[in-house]
Formats: sequence, C-alpha cells, structure tokens
Amino acid sequence: MSITTKFVFITGGVLSSLGKGVASSSLAHLLKMCHFEVDMLKIDPYINIDPGTLSPFEHGEVFVTADGSETDLDIGHYERFLNKDFSKENNFTTGQIYLSVIEQERQGQYLGKTIQVIPHIVEEIKERILKLGQGKDFLIVEVGGTVGDIEGMVYLEAIRELKNALGSKQVANIHVTLVPYIATSQELKTKPTQHSIIELRRLGVSANIILARCSQDLGADLKAKIASSCDVPVQNVIQAKDAPSIYACPANYLQEGLLDALFKHFNMEAQLDHRQFDLWAGLVHHILNPQRTLKIAFVGKYVHLSESYKSFLESMVCVGAHLKVRVEPVLINSEEFELQEGESETQLKERVARTLQSVDGLLVPGGFGSRGIEGMINAITYARESKKPFFGVCLGAQVMVIEFARHVLGLKGAHSSEFDTNAPHKVIDLLESQANTTHKGSSMRLGTHKISLKEGSLIAKTYNALEVYERHRHRYTINPDYLESYAKHGLEVVGQSFDHSQNLTEAMALKDHPFFLGVQYHPEFTSRLIAPNPLFKAFVQACM
Ligand code: GLN
Repeated sequence: MSITTKFVFITGGVLSSLGKGVASSSLAHLLKMCHFEVDMLKIDPYINIDPGTLSPFEHGEVFVTADGSETDLDIGHYERFLNKDFSKENNFTTGQIYLSVIEQERQGQYLGKTIQVIPHIVEEIKERILKLGQGKDFLIVEVGGTVGDIEGMVYLEAIRELKNALGSKQVANIHVTLVPYIATSQELKTKPTQHSIIELRRLGVSANIILARCSQDLGADLKAKIASSCDVPVQNVIQAKDAPSIYACPANYLQEGLLDALFKHFNMEAQLDHRQFDLWAGLVHHILNPQRTLKIAFVGKYVHLSESYKSFLESMVCVGAHLKVRVEPVLINSEEFELQEGESETQLKERVARTLQSVDGLLVPGGFGSRGIEGMINAITYARESKKPFFGVCLGAQVMVIEFARHVLGLKGAHSSEFDTNAPHKVIDLLESQANTTHKGSSMRLGTHKISLKEGSLIAKTYNALEVYERHRHRYTINPDYLESYAKHGLEVVGQSFDHSQNLTEAMALKDHPFFLGVQYHPEFTSRLIAPNPLFKAFVQACM
C-alpha cells in the first residue's frame, strides 16, 4: 500500500505547557485554509487508558467527543480551531497501546515470541499513526510531554522509524521550544533550545522546523544562532511570541513563514483561501477589540485551575467574538459560599449577594463529588431571587434542581443520591442504566444523544430547532417523580431525550426570569470560534 499522506510531528522541548496543542491546531487550521484534508492525533504518554478517571486537578478538563470518548483537552482546541468533530481515533495513550499489544499476546498472535518495546510496542504506535493518516493530505501528530521524558522515548523511536520508512519528503518534525527572557540581564537565552535539540538527536530524530516560544522578539541574530546550532535553515526558525489570544496564533505563524517553511520542506506549493482567512481574522479582531466587558461568575469546585474549565472559558471567548464583548470570567470556589464559623444564615446570604451583585451572570459548571455543593446552592438561590442570568451545566443543572426542590417546593433534605444516599427526597438519582455499573472507566452516559426541545420554548427558539444533538458525561439524572411539582412553580422541562431505557430530562428553564436554564449536557464541548453553541450566545446576551 502506498501512502501519500504527509506526517507532521510536533514535539516539545525545555518544559511543558508551551502550548503544543495550540501550535498544532494553528498549523492544522492554516493547512485547512489551503483546502487540504487534515487530521490530527494527540498522543498522551501516560499509562491510564484515557483521562476519564483522572482528577481535574491532575489533568485539567476531560474533553468528550461526539462518539463518547473521554479525551485530552487538546482535542477541544483541535475542534475549536478546525470546526470539526474528532473521535476516539484522534487521541491515544501509552496505556491503550500496551493494552492492545497485551490483548493480542493473550490471543496468541505473537506465539513463540518475546514481546518487547522494540519492535512490538513501537510497531503498534506506527500502525495507529499510519492508519489514521490514510487518505488524508496531512496528519498532524502532537506528542505529549517534553523531549527527555523517559515515557516519551518510545514515541520518538516511532517517529525515527517512520521517517526512515517514508523518507523526509513525507515526514516533518516541528520542535516547539522556549527561548526564555532573563529580565536581570535583559537577554533571551537559546541554550535550553540547543540542549533540547541535542536530546532529540541523541534519539535519532532531527528537527526540521523550530517553533520558538518567546516573550520578546528574537531578532535576526538570535534566529541565525538557533538555526546554526540546531541545524535548520534560518527561515525555519519560527518565532512564536506570546499572543494576546490563542486564536491570533495562526495569523502570527503565517506571517512568520511557518507554511512557507513546511511547504518548502515537502517540496510543494499551495494557496491560502483568503476569504476564509479574513472571516477568522475578523473574529480575532473582535476578541482583541471588544466594545465592552462583561463579568460572569463561574461558581465551581476546581476554580483555582482554569485548565479544568478550559472549554467553558474558550466558549466565552468564542461567543464574545461574535457579540463583540469580552467576557471576564470570575472564578469562584463554591466552598466560599458556605456557612463559616460564627456566621448566621442571614449574614451568609448577604455575603453571597455582595460578591455576586457585581457580576452580570452566573454559571455553575459540571463536576463530581459533594465538596462545595452547598455553596453552589446558595449562589443559585441568589441568581433565582435577584433574577440574575443563571446557566447550570450538568452538575450545575442538577444543583439548580436541588435548590428549587428545597427552597421553592420546601422539600427538606432534597439532594442528589450522589451526595447523600439516604436523602429523604432524591431529586437527582442514578440513571437506570448505571445501576449495575461496577467499573469506573468509560462507563458513564457519554457522547452525543438526541434531545427534543419543547415547541415554543426559549431554548427551541435559541437553537432554532426542535431536535438537537449534544454531548453528555454523567451518571445521575433529574428524578422524574418531582417534575409536575416543579412545573406548577414555574420550573419546566424544555428538553428531553428518549433514546434510553428511561425518558431523561435534558433541560429545565424557569418562567418569569430573564435566563434561568439548566442543561444535563455539555454545550461547552460544541462551541467553536466559527460557530459557538447557541446557548452560550443566548446566556451572554441575557447577561448583556
Ligand atoms: N456528577 C454528576 C453526574 O455524574 C454530574 C456530572 C458532570 O457534571 N459532568 O451525573
């Protein structure tokens, strides 16, 4: 089988968090604007099968794809930059590679052989890369971690072997590195980059293009120095200076000559579609020059790490670009809204109101576990009573229902069975399909499900549709036994799904309130710069 795909490997040097995900997405975006068929792969060199069971503190957000796989948050960047759905094929971990090799070994597929990292593990990696690349013009492969990590070595070996097999006209390596600025001597330093390239070479891999992250302009001299010490043409040293928005990166890289360098390496030519490029540039212009700023409180439990709410925060940027506003997220740890020692209920209520009165709206995102739930309830009471726009997503919607059950229906002790198995009113209860689930990996209700919206409702008008497809990730659901009572008091079911053994409530909204909506699904996973999810648009408009 002959493969014509061009493979671009993105590796990282010096330290982590250099933005390889954004760099990979930006390159893919530029190639897409040249009308190439581009696919992407994120390799995570850890042993977990997927990040689904990792704490948000460890790993940041778990991004859920349409086909229901729990993936790395970089897949979210890929989708937002390319405005396209990715799937479980677009992300694998070392755990998945070993699992499939071991399963094959148990089935007797290697009978008589000793299974080793080289060749068997490396072969499995190469096979997956080649398979995904088939039929595409480009496959961008982002290798997680930093060159020099023991766990990443096997991937560099796979890159080396693929380059040998396919030749340099089909394989390019882009090394993302840091050129730190030392304030005391007012100098940019190239040594870490040189060392990182030496480390790459030691493993038999050479960089073709260097994407140098920096906070100051490199200048011709430093570019020449990096080029000569790292063995690349000077035009292949691409300055990636800190950008005011990640969405400005494609244009910055283009101007710096990234596409020219890549096309030259592959000995090819292509034209950028300027109409599409201008559309994107127009949105970036609005991100950078908003007409006004709004403050939206995110009352959650992982707030000290904004990586945990990546897709929410990016959704706000994406929607802001269309509404010409900048949403300033105010991240609030919900535990701060809980009763403190010596504080009375009235004092707490006043304290919550004081903090929230300066924001234009309030969002309670998803989450797991009981910590901070009471604080979320108190924040939602404030939003309901003061008629501040409120949006609850997944756990946020469930807590919205708990709040309403307790404070409007007067159901004392109403709770979710996730947090209190003996609650007198389990207004949120385990999904029937979850009753016999014993293992934790990839076992929630996941991925895209069809939702029917109530005719004439605000949510149906917002989507301009009566049926929508949204992504899910939950084990618990709104208990239908109480729905009639909620409706009598104005909280109505406005979205349902019927694709399950039970009819599920997917969205509830409060009448006589400018915006008080809870959805069981995750609109943040389908919000892209070109096409933000309509619910975020409606929410931010309500906040405006
Ligand atoms: N913990 C809740 C559940 O499992 C909510 C999940 C979420 O917010 N993603 O149903």
